[in-house]
Amino acid sequence: MISSKLTEYCRRRNFKKTPEPRKFQSRKNDRPIFVVQKHWATNLHYDFRLEIGGVLKSWAVPKTPPRRAGIRRLALETEDHPLAYADFQGKIPAGNYGAGRVEIWDRGFFENLDFKKKSLLDDYQKGKIEFFLEGKKLKGGYALIKMKGRGNHWLLLKLKKQKN
Ligand code: MN
Repeated sequence: MISSKLTEYCRRRNFKKTPEPRKFQSRKNDRPIFVVQKHWATNLHYDFRLEIGGVLKSWAVPKTPPRRAGIRRLALETEDHPLAYADFQGKIPAGNYGAGRVEIWDRGFFENLDFKKKSLLDDYQKGKIEFFLEGKKLKGGYALIKMKGRGNHWLLLKLKKQKN
């Protein structure tokens, strides 16, 4: 049974031809995970994914994700990916959606920085998520903010603020 949130993920892929995950057993993590995959597609980009609502909410970031406070990057929201995608590295063959090499660039856990303790899904739906990343390359407070009236355009920025 495929979660309806992953319909678009499935629609874009032919699992006879791509090595990407096609099994969606929901592995319940104790803490939400994030992963950043470097993707040598037509244009090199970084796929930034956060575990929210049982899937990996996903954004394609055309430049290296910010590692210093004050730097912001355009982040284009893409389709939800299954949690199993966090382990994926490999080569998507030519002629397939997203053809090119994928490598895990960073991964780890994250924490919701919303002090009102609303759910991540609520914050995502409202278009503003603040979170604390615990990765190897990406550490500290970050935000993803949806740009009003700009379709799937969000901004990914590193915050000065840390955990309280
Ligand atoms: Mn990609």
